[in-house]
Formats: sequence, structure tokens, C-alpha cells
Amino acid sequence: MFPALADYHVHTPLCHHASGWPVEFARRAVELGLGELGFADHNPMPGHFDDWRMLREDLPRYIGEVEKARAEFPQLAIRLGLECDFLDGREDWLGELRGLAEWDYFIGSVHYLPDGVEVDHPKYVSRYRDGNVEEIWTAYWQTYERAVRSGRFDFMAHPDLPKKFGYRPAGGLRRFYEPVIAALAETRTPFEINTAGWRKDCREQYPAREFLELAHAADVPLLINSDAHAVEELGAGFAEAVTLAKSVGYTQTARFQGGQISFVPLR
Ligand SMILES: [Zn+2]
Ligand SMILES: [Zn+2]
Repeated sequence: MFPALADYHVHTPLCHHASGWPVEFARRAVELGLGELGFADHNPMPGHFDDWRMLREDLPRYIGEVEKARAEFPQLAIRLGLECDFLDGREDWLGELRGLAEWDYFIGSVHYLPDGVEVDHPKYVSRYRDGNVEEIWTAYWQTYERAVRSGRFDFMAHPDLPKKFGYRPAGGLRRFYEPVIAALAETRTPFEINTAGWRKDCREQYPAREFLELAHAADVPLLINSDAHAVEELGAGFAEAVTLAKSVGYTQTARFQGGQISFVPLR
């Protein structure tokens, strides 16, 4: 049972690579004893953009499915959010999206580098093998810092995503983390421990422990999310994530409702 925890990073079949409708996730959340549940499917873009996000015309259905879950499980607080890609120069669209529903939060994500490379897509894994790890990491973290400073997001997703396939640059990694943590601290933007990393080749939560230690020292707030793409992934790894967060000194996690942040003790 996780009454203190919310799982705010949950996908639906509307992004074309997840299974489980909000009603099914809500049933599971009640079984797990989660404090809150929130949906954050990949944000629609104007026109066709890629094949792994919600279509703009599916937005009413998305909201309707979340409302159906709220009606069926009134005892559970169910939040409405989106996982929004930060794309340099296209931030205005996120402003437009904000006006289209009563969102509880927007999660900021960097999947795309400015040159169009998707850091976590298997079709680009050869780039890591071909000796571009340092270059990809550099571009990624610079983009991530711009995403944080854009002020468009309530909290940030999976901070060290480019380690997904297990490729990390040589030497210390603090040089990548520090500018982003400074941006998070200055803008008071929380980030998530995303337990999906434990299910990927890197076999480690996003972000690494060192990032968590530096973020805690800078007083950056934290959430714990599963990034579930299937019902059985809801709340996955939460006990381990709580232990990890506490071991670096965190004592609370953030909640969101209507864009307003609050905090609950980490238990
Ligand atoms: Zn993501
Ligand atoms: Zn996600």
C-alpha cells in the first residue's frame, strides 16, 4: 500500500504504444492503495508529427476516458495531465494546449534533440554504438536545461533518459547534471524518479543516485512515477524508489491539482 504516493506518469492506448484504459489503471491503483493516480499521455501536436503520441482529434476521448475513471472510482483522486515534448521554438503550442482542458499538470520531457534524433528510440541506438555518446549526452542536457527554463512545465520527466540503452560517457557525469539542477532549483521545478529505467537496458531508475544527491542538496522537489505503459506497470518499483529517495535525504513528494503544487510526507 502506498497511500502517500501518487503515480502521475501513466500512458493510455491513445499514444499507440500502451495498453490499459484509465478505468483499468484506476482499478489497479485502488488495489495498490495509491494515494492518487494521474494520466500523462504523450501530448498531441498540430498536424502529424510522429507515430507515438495522441492525435489532436483524440483529445476529447482522452479527457472522456479519464472522466469515466473518475466516475467509476470516486474514492480515488484522479488527475489529468500530459507528458509534453519540449521542442525548441515550438513552445507556443504548449500554451495553446494549456487552454484546451482543465489540466492538473504538464510533465516536461526531452525525447528529441534539436537535430531530430530521438534519444530513447531504438531506431537511433546505432548512434550510441558509433561513438557519439558524449555528443548525444551534451546535446540532451543542454536541451533539458532549456526545457526547464522555458517555464512551460509543472515538473520534469526522466532526467537522464539517454542512458536507456546502457551507454554512458566516460568520466564523471556531474558536469551534465549540475547546470540542469541549477535550473530546476532557480525555477523551483520538481523532477521525477521514473522507475521505468529499472525495466530498460540501463537497469537503473532515472535519474542516477548522484543526480538525486545533488538535487536534494539544492532543495529541488521530487515525485515518484512509474511511466506505466501497461496496467501491471502501475506503481512498479515504488517501494525501492521510496527507499532510494529517503536514503539521499528526501522526506516529501509533490502533488499537483489544477497546476497547484502541494507536498506530502514520503512514507
Ligand atoms: Zn517520456
Ligand atoms: Zn512517459
